[in-house]
Amino acid sequence: MSMFPWLVGGGALAAYAWSRSNAPSRSRPTVSTSMESTRPQPEAPIASTTHQRALTGRWVWPVVKWRDRAPVVSDGVGTPRPGGRKHQGVDIMFKRQPGDHFAPGTPNGTKWFVMPDNVVAVAASDGVVWNAGPTPHGFAVVIDHGPQKVATFYTHLEKLLVTPTTRASTGQRVTAGQPIGIVGFSPLDGERLKHLHFEIWRGGPKDWTDPQPLLRTWEVAADPRSHDAIRNASFVYRPVGSSGEPYPEWVRALKDKSGVYVIREDGETVYVGSSNGRLYDTLTRHFQVWRRYKGFWRGQYGEGHDPGLTYPRDRVDVAVRLTKPSDALDEEMRLIARLKPRDNLLGQPEPRTDDVPF
Ligand SMILES: [Zn+2]
Repeated sequence: MSMFPWLVGGGALAAYAWSRSNAPSRSRPTVSTSMESTRPQPEAPIASTTHQRALTGRWVWPVVKWRDRAPVVSDGVGTPRPGGRKHQGVDIMFKRQPGDHFAPGTPNGTKWFVMPDNVVAVAASDGVVWNAGPTPHGFAVVIDHGPQKVATFYTHLEKLLVTPTTRASTGQRVTAGQPIGIVGFSPLDGERLKHLHFEIWRGGPKDWTDPQPLLRTWEVAADPRSHDAIRNASFVYRPVGSSGEPYPEWVRALKDKSGVYVIREDGETVYVGSSNGRLYDTLTRHFQVWRRYKGFWRGQYGEGHDPGLTYPRDRVDVAVRLTKPSDALDEEMRLIARLKPRDNLLGQPEPRTDDVPF
């Protein structure tokens, strides 16, 4: 027996009802408690001309870029759903590319699409959080984009990044591109496939419109957490995997970044380094023993690194802090003084200028 008696057909979408009076004098949306989208309904009209009139303000895709890859619609409106319903929104994932390691059939991928862990869903435009809270299909958010008669609906979130509310009781304002949650899967979905389900309502949940023509004109925002999250985090040491494995995502996210890193080997702080704009390369060279013998480090002295120091990946953990490019070396020196890493103190910090090949 279902815990949620209003659900019909098991796979139903528990939408928060949002509707807005047609009377322009009413400034607040009205709410109904109906769960109309959970019931089989006659096929709704798709994309009438009134539905496609232009939206005002800045609009962005509700999923941010992942490793410079723009999201795509993995399933559009109108496809059949259990109970004779039709899909009344779009599902958003990333197109699978060669080298993606997410196996089809896992929560992170199908044959054609992938959705990594910890991808952020963002507000598509400025507005007020109308509803945010748990549903049988995961956390869901409705944003009211008044004064225009438009709301957006996001569901299957595994975590909320806005304050839970009903009927805009918190009055929380969000701006286009602001994180509202982490993309997850519907607990009622047998496949447990991570994706964002996104709808646009131009009146209420019944007045949904096909987001796809609109999405084509919207930009894709960068992940607003990518720089600040690492920079502001306290030093957290994490393993970097074993030789031959792909580096974890947080390491790959250091490409083209500036900052400092601390390497511990079997728990002992062994090395502190920094890079101005090449943090990924600079860090991972410490784990690429073969490169040591090809002069790979030559020319890197300007960044203050000892070229010879390589460590076995499976015995180290690493902490990273992003900085402004101009601050990386200062921060490195501060950390060396504070942490007294074993190998910096042996061979560093004075660059041995007689080794510089030019
Ligand atoms: Zn969907």
